[in-house]
Amino acid sequence: MLDINKIRADFPILSRTVNGKPLVYFDNGATNQKPQIVIDAIAEYYQEINANIHRGVHTLSQLATDAYEVSRAKIQNHINAKFAHEVIFTSGTTHGINAVANGFASLLKQGDEILVSAMEHHSNIVPWQMLCEKTEAILRVIPMDENGELIMAEYNKLLSDKTKIVTVNHISNALGTVNPIKYMIDKAHEFGAAILIDGAQAVAHLKPDVQELDCDFYVFSGHKMCGPTGTGILYGKEDWLNKLPPYQGGGEMIKEVTFEKTTYADLPHKFEAGTPNISGGIVLGTAVDYLNSVGFDNIQQQESELLEYGTKRLLEIEGLKIFGTAKEKASVISFNIQGIHPYDIGAIIDKLGIAVRTGHHCAQPVMNIFCIPGTIRASFSFYNTKEEIDLMVEAVKKAQLMLS
Ligand code: PMP
Repeated sequence: MLDINKIRADFPILSRTVNGKPLVYFDNGATNQKPQIVIDAIAEYYQEINANIHRGVHTLSQLATDAYEVSRAKIQNHINAKFAHEVIFTSGTTHGINAVANGFASLLKQGDEILVSAMEHHSNIVPWQMLCEKTEAILRVIPMDENGELIMAEYNKLLSDKTKIVTVNHISNALGTVNPIKYMIDKAHEFGAAILIDGAQAVAHLKPDVQELDCDFYVFSGHKMCGPTGTGILYGKEDWLNKLPPYQGGGEMIKEVTFEKTTYADLPHKFEAGTPNISGGIVLGTAVDYLNSVGFDNIQQQESELLEYGTKRLLEIEGLKIFGTAKEKASVISFNIQGIHPYDIGAIIDKLGIAVRTGHHCAQPVMNIFCIPGTIRASFSFYNTKEEIDLMVEAVKKAQLMLS
């Protein structure tokens, strides 16, 4: 059981007011809040050890390099990667997906197929479309049903010897659906296809075990797991990362450079060109430590109670419809109120201190399936409470009265 008051005290922003009201932060799917320990670690890095990594012989450079590599090892351990060099620091999920999609350009030929799910974030659609433009490969879409669940029978029909890579999110940002990724990974492998899991929405709620999953790539962003913005991880199996060409060229990613020929550095450096977000990478390790100290069992218990309570309370509102009613769901509720534009509700409840996301959530194809312009999305974190849900429900009711 979480001591919720103690947990909330870890997050200074939770005690601020917005528009004169106590902040109720339900936009955790976009980015979640940072505990003091993470905020302090950023300042501490710049106060104590700021230096460039993997270069200098001097003490500070060594300290920074050691801290960066310790963080890589923490993340390796957290996701249970076999080797530390399978953990590549990136600027976020978008960077990770683009690095893989770009690498596949050298492996695909005309007529090869890429399977993408119907409920992807734009950052897990557009890079693959760009890849198709380059290679004349074909993008095929795994459909979903009205509950927001991917249709596995259709997935199985789409898989063939032509399938070279499947890409799917672990948890949908628009609907909260937890996808059956273990099943999808095993099926993709039956056809010799690689599979990338977009874990952007998952890592705040669970601890992925990449060896047990047996996925080829798993990507995520630090800012969605109590870490700094501009950080992320591309996990790739060693064989795949060796097979793919580097995404960017520059310093740090080479063995030797001449004007005739350049050879690339070994993993992970081959994929880490240029000076990275050093403080961010180090502090991502602090965020991972923090989440583990809270405990993912506790996180899941608190969030599933919030999901159940929030669903029940919101459904008391007349004309309210929830989009995404999958059996396996994370603490995300996407909803609309009949006859009212989601933006109008969002703008009014903001005045009451309540932060939700409104719009298409960078998943326009999902909105198109439901024939809606967007939804109001309340996404809960372990530091949220039922009392905050009550405040949101009252605020939504007030907005509804004003707008109808
Ligand atoms: N995929 C999913 C499922 C997401 O929710 C997000 C962020 N909303 C992304 C990818 C992109 O993440 P980032 O903007 O941190 O690169």
